[in-house]
Amino acid sequence: MEKLIIGSHVSFSQRDGLLGSVNEALKYGGNTFMIYTGAPQNTLRAKINAEKTKEGQKLMQENHIDINNVIIHAPYIINLANSINREKYQFTIDFLKEELKRAETLGIKKIVLHPGSHVGIGTERGLTNIINGLNIILDKKDGPIILLETMAGKGSELGTTFEELKTIIDGVKNNERLGVCLDTCHLNDAGYDVANFDKLLKEFDDIIGTDKIGCIHINDSKNEKGAHKDRHENVGFGTIGFDNLIKIIYHEKLKKVPKILETPFVSIDNDSKDRTYPPYKFEIDMIKKQKYNPNLKEDVRNHYRNF
Ligand code: FE
Ligand code: FE
Ligand code: ZN
Repeated sequence: MEKLIIGSHVSFSQRDGLLGSVNEALKYGGNTFMIYTGAPQNTLRAKINAEKTKEGQKLMQENHIDINNVIIHAPYIINLANSINREKYQFTIDFLKEELKRAETLGIKKIVLHPGSHVGIGTERGLTNIINGLNIILDKKDGPIILLETMAGKGSELGTTFEELKTIIDGVKNNERLGVCLDTCHLNDAGYDVANFDKLLKEFDDIIGTDKIGCIHINDSKNEKGAHKDRHENVGFGTIGFDNLIKIIYHEKLKKVPKILETPFVSIDNDSKDRTYPPYKFEIDMIKKQKYNPNLKEDVRNHYRNF
């Protein structure tokens, strides 16, 4: 039997580099992970620590973590869909070219990208900007793959439907270097029926092709289907529910696809934002056992409280 490929978002610091990320993933019981190469909300990027990269790659080998399953997430503030500000648009293109180089330096093969928001210029022009940008960024046949993430449809986000993603893929010349990252929370918020996943997957297959799925973000949602909100919830605690997420995680056709948790940290008490703990160790455990743990948040608090 093929093994479940599961992990979460982990940190990547200048000091500990890839080694720190691998150690964190192992602590959570993951066999893969996702990093931002710096802060997700800005584009400042420090030079990658070569020594820590080597040590991290060695630790991955020792623990049978396949680097082909490891993901980089591009920062979510860059926007390829709007080119009104030419300088900003050019910056985004340059940044993504550098991000591809960083991926190569780390040995990572997949980068998840939010397609972008058109911010008033309309869907068609927005999609054209994304296509033009990607054609400049992916100017070679080989190199890391960019996975376009399915979006919730908050504001003027593009990539909210399979058709929009298909338009982008078709418009890019070297589209063997393009794939898709499904995000379960975003699919739900975009209006797709995640509870009827086989139907959803069939639709995806008809429009894009399941072979293009390179990653799945496993998140429950705080909102109802079609809410266009994008607020993640812990696995089993949202409107999608544990059983529906388990069906996706263990889906026969998605066995080779890495599953990444991006669920919210648990706060020390219900509303405090200043002390929060990562839920991933307990969520991964629950997913491996395929048994819902209604005390997940309490277990997370009890585990970390004494640190
Ligand atoms: Fe994302
Ligand atoms: Fe996501
Ligand atoms: Zn999201």
